[in-house]
Amino acid sequence: MPSLFDSHCHPQFAAYDADREIVIRRAIDQGVFMIAVGTSYETSRAAVNLAKKYPGRIWATVGIHPGHASKGQHDPLETKKEIAEEKLDDRFYELAKLQETVGIGETGLDYHYLNPVPGDNGISRIQLAQKELFLEHIKLAAEVKKPLMIHARDAYRDVFEILSDASFRHGIVMHFFQGTPEQARWFLDLGAYISFAGPITFTEQYDEVLQSVPVDRILIETDAPYASPAPFRGRRNEPSYVRFVAEKIAKIHGKPTEDIAKMTTQNITNVFHGIMT
Ligand SMILES: [Zn+2]
Ligand SMILES: [Zn+2]
Repeated sequence: MPSLFDSHCHPQFAAYDADREIVIRRAIDQGVFMIAVGTSYETSRAAVNLAKKYPGRIWATVGIHPGHASKGQHDPLETKKEIAEEKLDDRFYELAKLQETVGIGETGLDYHYLNPVPGDNGISRIQLAQKELFLEHIKLAAEVKKPLMIHARDAYRDVFEILSDASFRHGIVMHFFQGTPEQARWFLDLGAYISFAGPITFTEQYDEVLQSVPVDRILIETDAPYASPAPFRGRRNEPSYVRFVAEKIAKIHGKPTEDIAKMTTQNITNVFHGIMT
């Protein structure tokens, strides 16, 4: 099996504090390369540190998850410390310039847990805070000329409009894509790559959108520790499981898994210029 590239995972998270080395080694032994994605300052810095520790195997992206644009969406799998309301300050600029940092994010919009406040015209303060933070990430990515790692949940229309208006030129990855073929088309037309995760393995719900995205624009990911693929559903995920995502895409596109592995790895190096495998 040729190497596989997990385009989006979080091996720096607290979920692996007890066995991080073992989990990373298991992925490396199976030929898996990884992008460790930051979600806060602390987890961005930790992602960069992992990239330094495993050169040529792990790379980092740095940013603030839209869920951390305002207080209250902290997941204990991320870090043992509380994540406060975060700002994209100078510390992020320092991390963003590093060679180990190949992209900016995860950033974007997440309306999944929003409770609209009556009288807010349907646009809550949280949505405005997320939008402002997203725009700051786009500015940072343009400044360092590195691609955007986009998180969009229940917010494809707004993310698309913001990206269109920004006419961003340094590469876009739509991580954990769960939209329709039509929504995928919007982002493909912007030049984006579409990344698929574990849920595609346990339902046929995404078969149509998987089919609609050309193989030269597909990436594979685990988003570990979240969203385990079928055989491990409900348990902690890890980067070595990315092969199950590759197998499902191979099945849908009628190609050998080896070809999907090769092409998705090639796609990674096309969008993340800082990565060489
Ligand atoms: Zn995400
Ligand atoms: Zn993630």
